[in-house]
This record gives sequence, C-alpha cells and structure tokens, in this order.
Amino acid sequence: MPDVFADLVGQDEAVAELRRAAGAAAAVLRAGAADRTPALIAAGPASEAAPETGDTEPGALDPSTGMTHAWIFTGPPGSGRSVAARAFAAALQCTYGTGCGECPGCHTTMGGTNADVRMVVPEGLSIGVGEMRALVLRAASTPSGGRWQVVVIEDADRLTEAAGNALLKAIEEPPPRTVFLLCAPSTHPDDISVTIRSRCRVVPLRQPPAAAVAEVLVRRDGIAPDVAQWAAAAAQGHVGRARRLARDPEARKRREAVLAVPRRLTGVGAAFDAASALIEAAEAEAEASVSEADATERAALETALGAGGTGRGAAGAMRGAAGQLKELEKRQKSRATRAQRDALDRALVDLAGFYRDALTMALRAPVDPVHTDTAALAGAGAQKWDAEGSLRRLEAVLACRAAIEANVKPRIAVEAMMLALWKG
Ligand SMILES: [Zn+2]
Repeated sequence: MPDVFADLVGQDEAVAELRRAAGAAAAVLRAGAADRTPALIAAGPASEAAPETGDTEPGALDPSTGMTHAWIFTGPPGSGRSVAARAFAAALQCTYGTGCGECPGCHTTMGGTNADVRMVVPEGLSIGVGEMRALVLRAASTPSGGRWQVVVIEDADRLTEAAGNALLKAIEEPPPRTVFLLCAPSTHPDDISVTIRSRCRVVPLRQPPAAAVAEVLVRRDGIAPDVAQWAAAAAQGHVGRARRLARDPEARKRREAVLAVPRRLTGVGAAFDAASALIEAAEAEAEASVSEADATERAALETALGAGGTGRGAAGAMRGAAGQLKELEKRQKSRATRAQRDALDRALVDLAGFYRDALTMALRAPVDPVHTDTAALAGAGAQKWDAEGSLRRLEAVLACRAAIEANVKPRIAVEAMMLALWKG
C-alpha cells in the first residue's frame, strides 16, 4: 500500500501541514510514555502568540503547536475532505512514521477496521443528538491501541443544533487522547457553528486541477490517459465523480441525458417534460443506490427481532419491534431523500458546466471547456444567446441548486429553472 496521503490529489500544502501535525502527535505520545503525563499541550513550547480561544488551562491547546484536538477539513465537494480526514487518522495511528501505509495502524485505519477510529457518515439529511452523544461518550474512552481515539465526522454541516452542542462540549473539554476531525464545505456559519469553528484548526482543500485528477486516474485506476483527461475535465475537479464517469457506462449515459436538455427545450411543454425527466432520472438513480441496502437492513432487523415469535411476552416484544421497524423506515426514507438530492445535484452541476462553456465561448475566454464532447453545441448556444443570455442561463441553474439547498421542493425548483433556460 502506498503512503496514506497518496490519494489526496493536488493538496500539497494540506498534506505538509497534516504530516507535521502527525509528527508532533507522535512526539506527544513519546513524551507521555517517558513522563506518564500525556497531554497534547506537550506538543511544543508555549507560544508567544495569544491563542485564538484565549485558553491556557492544561489540556487545552495552543494553536501554534503542531497538533490539536479538533480539526475542520473544508473544500468543494470532491476535493477530498473525507479522504484527507481518513489519511490523517491513519497518520495518527501509524506505528513507524506519519502515514507509511505499511504498518498495522495505517492498514487498519485505511481499511476501516481500526478500533480507535470511528467514521461517522450521515446517511440521512442530518446527524441527530442521540447519535452524537453516544459518539462523544465512546470517544472519551482510552484508545485500545495506545495512541489516539479519532472520530471523523463527514458532512459535519448536517449536524442538528442539539448534536452540534453535544459535540461542542466534547471539543471544549477534550479527553487527552481524543481527536475530532470534521468535514464541511466551508467554515461559513451555515455550515459549522462559530463556536465549534473557533475551537478547531481549519485545513482548507482546493478544487484539484483537472490534470492532477487525470494523473491519479491513470496511475491508480489504470484508466487510459485520453479517457482520464476527458473524465477529469467533465467532473470539474471532483475526483470520485471523474472515476465514476471513466468507469461506469450508466453514469456516462445519465450525464449524456442531462447534456441533451439544452437542445430539447423548444417550448413550454418541452420545458416541463425536461423537468419531469430530470427529476425521474434522479429518483431512479437514488432508488438503485439505496434499495439493496434497505432490503438487507430490514431483513437483518426482522431476524434480530425474531419476527413471527409466539408465546409469553411475544406481544410486548412485537410492540417494541414495530417501533424499531418504524424507526428504521424513517431512517431509510431520510437516506433516500438525500440520495435523490445528491443525484439531482450532480445533474445540475453537469448542466451548469454546459452553460459555463457557452459563456466562456461567448466571451472568447482562453479556457478549456468543461464538457469537450458538447463543446460544439455550447458554441452554437454562445452564438445564439451571446454572453448575457448564456450568463442568465447559468444563473438559472445555480439558482435552482440554491433553492433545493434551501428546501424548495425539487420539482418546483427544476420546473422554474427549465422555463428560465427556455425563455433565457
Ligand atoms: Zn504506518
């Protein structure tokens, strides 16, 4: 296995900072083994600079030291926030260095089996307070491997307010060997509360350049260079999406259907048809991605509950079982809604790329098109709409994304967008 940071594409600065921190963390462990008073404050000499939070009590952290208890990884979708967090977790558990990729600590963390690393991946639209309290409680236990308890929270922007408060308490008074790694699109208060933010060190990731994405597709996934280049450009810096496009014919078909939308908008009726088609395609894609997991979970729960049991106590057990099944259905519904929104958002990003191409062509800007395969079509659009009309259409797509993000019903937002795209 290569170095744990190998999959973090085009993020040299972040990787350097994380390696330094992992080195400082290892020094803390060594110092702790020597004098038996392990605390992260030992990571370096006290700094002259006043800490942001004004904390000086033992166990609290001076932000100038190499290691801290709480981190936020920010960046656009696909930039590798969770990849960075997982790699850093591995570097903290690494026995030999700062993420060698060879030792048991690296292996188990990257494979998802390290007992001291918990990855929280919200499946629904939010992370609730119950889940967070249980997590915080477990995170306070002594690491079984003798290093760090690491909690990675993907999509920390989906914390409910109560869950955020539970997390904040843990970050404010962190157990000495516990590290929280949060992932969020940005440090905007909409994404992460100001108080949590003030306790964390931020690692900003950038949108990786297409060339870097293509390089990793060729090197690691063995994809042909021309396909890799096309997919990297079409995915607009989203590494996972680029890989999917390069490998999965279904994903390519869905993308082609989306990019056929602009030339199908010939009237009001066609605009509503296109809206329906887009929504239904997103629903079908989401259904395909969650239905198997739904059925497996339900069967597992029914088995665990001993469905169909009779005799003394069975009636009471069945009442409890009904509650658990209901809870499961609620969770699955939330996951399905999220999968639909994610699928729809991917389609909207593709569509935005098309109008962005039209705009840059109308402006004769010297940049490469996002969608090389529909560049001719975007060029025709640029002639017909000019820069202003192209920009209005691009804005209509972005407004649709923002509306759905703000909980406008997707069908309504998409219909409004299609009408705007048709009328210009
Ligand atoms: Zn290692």
